[in-house]
Amino acid sequence: MAMIKVDHLHYTYDGQRDVLNDVSFAIQKGQYVVLMGHNGSGKSTLAKLLAGLLEVKRGEIHIQDQLLQPKTIKDIRHRLGIVFQNPDNQFIGATVADDLAFGLENRRVPQEKMQAIIDQFSERVGMKAFLHQEPASLSGGQKQRVAIAGVLAMQPSILLLDEATAMLDPQGKKEIRDLIIAIKETMPDLTIVAITHDVEEAVLADEVLVLNQGRLAYQGTPEQLFKDPTQVKTLRLDMPFVYQLHHQFPKLNPTDRDDLNAWAAQLWTSK
Ligand code: ADP
Repeated sequence: MAMIKVDHLHYTYDGQRDVLNDVSFAIQKGQYVVLMGHNGSGKSTLAKLLAGLLEVKRGEIHIQDQLLQPKTIKDIRHRLGIVFQNPDNQFIGATVADDLAFGLENRRVPQEKMQAIIDQFSERVGMKAFLHQEPASLSGGQKQRVAIAGVLAMQPSILLLDEATAMLDPQGKKEIRDLIIAIKETMPDLTIVAITHDVEEAVLADEVLVLNQGRLAYQGTPEQLFKDPTQVKTLRLDMPFVYQLHHQFPKLNPTDRDDLNAWAAQLWTSK
């Protein structure tokens, strides 16, 4: 069973131009899928449709076999955790612990169960030591980690990261990439969909989807995509760092961490 199934999806804002044009794909349970595309390619529109923030008018979206439509949105939202771009807009509590408690209170989680859940999910994102800190004292990356803990505590089937790293500095971006890898290991059933500009996130994905002018222009592994510089250029994407290295040093295997480390060491000593 596909966790997300999109069939012949179109979308227009003005009734004239399709900003999404006949988009179809399926995402399986437990996959980490990165959705990319240059500015204006339709990524946010697709994210808003998946999240039920825009209404599907032509085509269909199924989440876990349930058709997304006005009467099912509430139910589907319970299974979808969304983290948005701006870390400051997502912080509601006065401390990290309050923030996590707020979401749980909304879901009417009994008070006596709350602390254990807050401990578990703050630990999972590496923020347990910060539970009593105020948001102002946190970095952007730390705030997004708290936002991720907040949605994971709701136990969604799907985690949707909508440009969640766009406002972060390189360190913050790396923190989130590392966290996604850790979450994949600890929560193998969780389906993760990340909409991003950052090609470095795509390197680690099980699958990459690329939108180009509203059409699905690529669906496949990151390796197939980035091994082909012409394709990367046509899709107007950047080349991730390890693949830049690979194209310079073809023997380097960009998917093999040991190989990468060996090459890094070799480059370092030959400097
Ligand atoms: P991306 O997230 O890839 O940058 P968007 O989904 O934001 O792409 O935009 C796709 C196209 O839809 C763009 O041409 C954009 O100008 C247009 N668009 C986005 N939002 C609106 C809106 N609210 N009203 C009209 N046009 C919009």
